[in-house]
Amino acid sequence: MSVTGPGMTGCRDAAAVLAAAVRRLTEAGVDSPRADAEQLAAYVLGVPRGRLVLAAWSPADVERFGELVARRAARVPLQYLVGTVGFRHLGLAVGPGAFVPRPETESVVEAALGLIAAVSHPRVVDLCTGSGAIALAVAQEHPGAEVLAVEADPRAAGWARRNIGATGLPVRLLVGRIEDIPADMDGFVDLVVSNPPYVADGEALPPEVARYEPVSALYAGVDGLDALRVVQRVARRLLRPGGSAVVEHGDRQGPAAADLFAGWEDVVIHQDLAGRDRYVTARR
Ligand code: GLN
Repeated sequence: MSVTGPGMTGCRDAAAVLAAAVRRLTEAGVDSPRADAEQLAAYVLGVPRGRLVLAAWSPADVERFGELVARRAARVPLQYLVGTVGFRHLGLAVGPGAFVPRPETESVVEAALGLIAAVSHPRVVDLCTGSGAIALAVAQEHPGAEVLAVEADPRAAGWARRNIGATGLPVRLLVGRIEDIPADMDGFVDLVVSNPPYVADGEALPPEVARYEPVSALYAGVDGLDALRVVQRVARRLLRPGGSAVVEHGDRQGPAAADLFAGWEDVVIHQDLAGRDRYVTARR
């Protein structure tokens, strides 16, 4: 079968274009070269990845694909190149200045939803919201939740604002430091959720992360716990008695993160889908 027209690249040539891209990404040290090449091709051609074999390539498509592959080989995050990332049931806009929401954070959302399941109109605060991922997922999956998202970095907040606008979900955005949240909510919040920066200073990260993602979303002091300490303090003042906190941490920080919640009830370290310690829940 041929779906090509004049000036179009046929199936066999398309396969060669893809194979060359896979080689290039492999040489550049990209983790999942085939998946990334296919996603970039699907993006350029405007087709779902599963229909790539049938797609026709124009010369302009081939050129644009080549440019994107070159940027991916320079380790620009795939999600910055295609401009979106799937998170829970959302497609979120991301780009330079935004920390790319990670799959492991979806389990943090799952836990957050479980903790507010019995409350019809819970007040929820997402500290260090970045692109708004956690706040928006909670708002979408718990209709009736009143969600406040807080982000200090104005560039990241720009992505959150854009995602709130695009989804139309009821999330309020506060741009500022979490320790500066006005005191008028103190003691009235049902759930505080956060994926704060938690990488220890000097710890090596993959090039995609180290070169392109915002430093302020990643590093948090010599033990990586500086932001978690602030999150614990802010959560303690915001939450009503009986309210809960869900806080993501690094896979070797479980016990240390749990220790930060000394004096809270029901402090539990939970694992992500990969079986690694990933977040702590605690009740005020
Ligand atoms: N887990 C993240 C990473 O892989 C770090 C996330 C964070 O600091 N919140 O880079």
